[in-house]
Amino acid sequence: MCRAVYPGSFDPITNGHLDIIRRGCTLFDHITIGVLSNEQKSPLFTVAERIEMIRQVTEPLAEAAGTRIEAESFDGLLVDFAKRKRANCIVRGLRAVSDYEYELQMAQMNRHMQPDIETVFLMSADTYSFVSSRLIKEIFFLGRSVGQFVPPIVEARLQAKARQRQSAPERA
Ligand code: ADP
Repeated sequence: MCRAVYPGSFDPITNGHLDIIRRGCTLFDHITIGVLSNEQKSPLFTVAERIEMIRQVTEPLAEAAGTRIEAESFDGLLVDFAKRKRANCIVRGLRAVSDYEYELQMAQMNRHMQPDIETVFLMSADTYSFVSSRLIKEIFFLGRSVGQFVPPIVEARLQAKARQRQSAPERA
């Protein structure tokens, strides 16, 4: 049984993340999407909102692939979370060379702490290689459509956030 943890901020989930999850479904029986509760980084979406979106958009994928996909929040060390989830792999996505240096360092440190968990790197389709949650939020709040890069549910949630900001700028 191959069990993987795919960690990240997912603030919000994009088509790039989904592409990695889809590819992961061909390799793993069970994928836990670990949503980092990074409140100090002032995320746009709460952990509960991010998990809800992930669950909605991964449900059809899991059904089609026959892989169990779950989403859960975590804080603290990733290897401890992976161990709790009885995962033998950590999945990370690689977009460009710029991701590589940081990812290599993290993977080696994680291997040092937990030698029995392998980090597996997957590359998204090149159509998503320039997509990041940060860029999506920037473009969206500067007035452009991001419909090509996120699932419709996520775009609708971004629109709701924008409306919330307009009506109560200090809280949204
Ligand atoms: P971001 O880096 O976009 O803020 P996360 O922290 O949520 O996103 O990223 C979680 C994981 O998904 C990381 O391994 C990241 O490299 C990967 N990832 C994010 N977007 C893409 C993409 N478009 N293609 C491939 N991997 C991606």
